Amino acid sequence: MESYYLWTVALTVCSVIFLPYYVKFRRQQKVDLSRKQEAVFLGADKPVAQFPVIDETRCIGCATCVKACPEQEVLGIVFGKSTVINGLKCIGHGKCAEVCPVGAIQVGLGDIEDRDDIPLMNEYNETVVPNLYIAGELGGFALIKNAIAQGAQVVEHIASLPQRSTDAEIYDVIIVGAGPTGMSAALNAVKHKLSYLVLDQQGAGGTILQYPRKKIVLVQPVEIPLYGYLKKSEYTKEELLDIWLGLKDKYKLNIQVGAKVSNVYRSEGYLTVEGTGETFKARNVILALGRRGTPRKLGVPGEEKAKVMYKLIDVEAYQNEKILIVGGGDSAIEVAYGLASQGSNQVTISYRKNKFFRLKRKNAELIEKLVKTGQVRTIMESNIIQIEDDHVRLDIKGQKAKLSNDYVFIFAGGEPPFKLLKKMGIKFGSD
Ligand SMILES: Cc1cc2nc3c(=O)[nH]c(=O)nc-3n(C[C@H](O)[C@H](O)[C@H](O)COP(=O)(O)OP(=O)(O)OC[C@H]3O[C@@H](n4cnc5c(N)ncnc54)[C@H](O)[C@@H]3O)c2cc1C
Repeated sequence: MESYYLWTVALTVCSVIFLPYYVKFRRQQKVDLSRKQEAVFLGADKPVAQFPVIDETRCIGCATCVKACPEQEVLGIVFGKSTVINGLKCIGHGKCAEVCPVGAIQVGLGDIEDRDDIPLMNEYNETVVPNLYIAGELGGFALIKNAIAQGAQVVEHIASLPQRSTDAEIYDVIIVGAGPTGMSAALNAVKHKLSYLVLDQQGAGGTILQYPRKKIVLVQPVEIPLYGYLKKSEYTKEELLDIWLGLKDKYKLNIQVGAKVSNVYRSEGYLTVEGTGETFKARNVILALGRRGTPRKLGVPGEEKAKVMYKLIDVEAYQNEKILIVGGGDSAIEVAYGLASQGSNQVTISYRKNKFFRLKRKNAELIEKLVKTGQVRTIMESNIIQIEDDHVRLDIKGQKAKLSNDYVFIFAGGEPPFKLLKKMGIKFGSD
């Protein structure tokens, strides 16, 4: 009788302690499963670069990795195992692998034979096109640390090649892209006294320029040529840009901005780089384009105006403005929400379809609420046809309309760089 009583007490105590954990665990699994299904539906489960490769036979489903991910949304627990839920969000911090108590995670590219977004390269990052190299995120590995290291390494290899250019019109190396990879490559070219040119369609800084204002950037130890090691592990976007732009000025880096490269091909003894209306020659070319692609343009008159943007960097800069957002995806909805939250802005979304498709559930609910409360107006089945300084012209179901306007944000997707690489003759894992 006494032992029965003891067992009952023990079981009750165990249930009181463990039941809440079990219920929480089950609930979280349910949420993660539905997140996974949603990500698969949206095509967001596939990573753009490296991602956590999980050994399911080792994983014990403890969720330490899920909690350690600085980007939060990448991993989840489904059917008791860690699973990549939103691969698109992985930028390769590798914290998941560091904290896994059973060593079940490696951050890598998986089986590249299946991937049509991982270019084939040799040990020096040279593609199948001789003297055409790839460095940084374009090669598959994200993170500023990898970008800086690879940009420098590829130039180190080029500097070790026996021949240098003796023709003033042919550079030793042309670097396409002025992100951390391209900047690091350029600094190493200065160090090795190579003749070089950097071409970028936007400005020096690359993806860092696109980060939201004051974003905290995590960086791991890495040496920048002619600068040394970054001293801190966290910088604000602005601090990091100051370092890059300071180096650009100090070494008067030869960077041409506004130059979108549309092709690279072999000519006799050198490579020809086609930029915006110009061609350049080089013995070697490094593609440091990143993977984010070029925002897709609409091609409407007035799109070149300064009031037209493809990214929202600083939401607080917009107060009491009439803003038109073009697009119907998650980015359009999130930006509409940010701008409408500023209170005084008048925010309108123009979308060519009759309803929003393929939105994350959270954003579908958000836009419904914003429209209901009058914070955002939507004009469905509409196309922007002209952008003027103080208004825009729309075609709404075949009818022309004029809308008073201060700013236009366009979210029409991006053009990934892989088509361009194929045009240059570069081969991929899946080829
Ligand atoms: C929101 C966000 C947060 C991040 N946070 C971190 C973080 O905290 N820590 C971290 O280490 N990493 C972070 N990353 C990743 C990091 O920003 C990238 O890995 C890094 O910028 C890659 O550098 P890159 O030079 O290879 O490419 P990018 O920085 O993307 O630069 C590529 C450059 O190439 C130019 N370009 C592209 N196509 C052409 C063309 N056809 N002609 C001419 N120029 C062209 C672009 O204009 C751009 O300037 C983050 C990324 C994002 C998107």
